[in-house]
Amino acid sequence: QPANDCPADVETLGRSTWTLLHSIAATYPKAPSHTQQSNLKSFMGLFSRLYPCWVCAEDFESYMEKEKIRVGSRDEFGKWLCEAHNAVNTKLGKDTFDCSKWEERWRTGWKDGRCN
Ligand code: FAD
Repeated sequence: QPANDCPADVETLGRSTWTLLHSIAATYPKAPSHTQQSNLKSFMGLFSRLYPCWVCAEDFESYMEKEKIRVGSRDEFGKWLCEAHNAVNTKLGKDTFDCSKWEERWRTGWKDGRCN
């Protein structure tokens, strides 16, 4: 971890950004309106062009071209995002995450109570 007053490196930026994105999924409605779906699509489209790690952004944009974003419900978007994050994990040689557990990690907390 860099000291607080240093610019974020790729790792810190990545961790903070995944926290934001998965938290957006966690609070996204189960039955989003047309406007909410279209807002999320626009946000993710712009995000993939503005993310301030340019190689990351370029790869993420091509991922979004191949794997069309799913915004029809919280679960749909949560799973889509988990798969997108796993694609980055794989590219970086990290373990993949079990996407059936994304809500425990990012919304409800683990069943064993370790977030309480
Ligand atoms: P992170 O990958 O940051 O994950 C944070 C936490 O999320 C983990 O501790 C785990 O609890 C949870 N988690 C892990 N996988 C999943 C999943 N699939 N679904 C839900 N939760 C999960 N870095 C590069 O070096 N090159 C790149 O090209 C690159 N591209 C990126 C693209 C995007 C869009 C983003 C947001 C980040 C990118 N990064 C890239 C950064 C990289 O993904 C990591 O954030 C960084 O390496 C720090 O990794 P970490 O091991 O701390 O955990």
